[in-house]
Amino acid sequence: MRNFILLGAPGSGKGTQSDHLVKAFGFTHISTGDIIRDNILQKTPLGILCQQYSEQGKLVPDDIMIQMVKNHLQTVTGDLIWDGFPRTIVQAEKLDQLLHKLNSKVDHTLYFEIDETKLVARITGRLTCPTCGQTYHKTAVPPKVAGVCDDDQTPLVQRKDDSEEKIKIRLAAYHADTAPLIEYYLHQQVLTVIDADMEGPAVWDQIMEVLK
Ligand code: ADP
Repeated sequence: MRNFILLGAPGSGKGTQSDHLVKAFGFTHISTGDIIRDNILQKTPLGILCQQYSEQGKLVPDDIMIQMVKNHLQTVTGDLIWDGFPRTIVQAEKLDQLLHKLNSKVDHTLYFEIDETKLVARITGRLTCPTCGQTYHKTAVPPKVAGVCDDDQTPLVQRKDDSEEKIKIRLAAYHADTAPLIEYYLHQQVLTVIDADMEGPAVWDQIMEVLK
């Protein structure tokens, strides 16, 4: 089991590149945002605990998040793409411990560096498929038929936390709690910076350089 972490601000393109990696190489995608939204939808006890945090744009407390990841880890196999986890130093240390128990480790972290002035427009224009999680953008990456998912024809929705007000809260959480992970993985010598300002295949090409 190899482990690749995608690290970066909300809207930096981690989800999009995860989808490409799954399609190209059959990696298993672990998106903690998707896991949380799924738990909220299913009204599980952990989902109920997460709802107020996630819809407000705040980070879910580490103990709840780690429990969800532990549960999820038991259901997956293969090489893993971690998208949105870890998001705090406590989570990163816990992930190292969990993987160590599985005779595994973090093989590589791709840090998606982006000009933050682009993020608000990217996120407020984002449309998400509630069935498969596929994301679109109202103008930059529209679905083939307006308002419905290309893959399963589900009506697309805007996430509750994709408003301008909530994005500011999410970016503040990113700077306070998640950005320190850059140093953490630099120190472990497993970090590569990806220029995520680029559009189209240029980001993918950089990822291929790292994974080849
Ligand atoms: P984005 O990367 O666009 O912010 P995600 O789907 O990764 O979106 O996350 C959405 C929300 O889910 C976060 O704002 C937070 O509330 C919660 N969340 C996701 N992953 C974590 C995590 N590792 N720790 C704490 N909260 C998380």
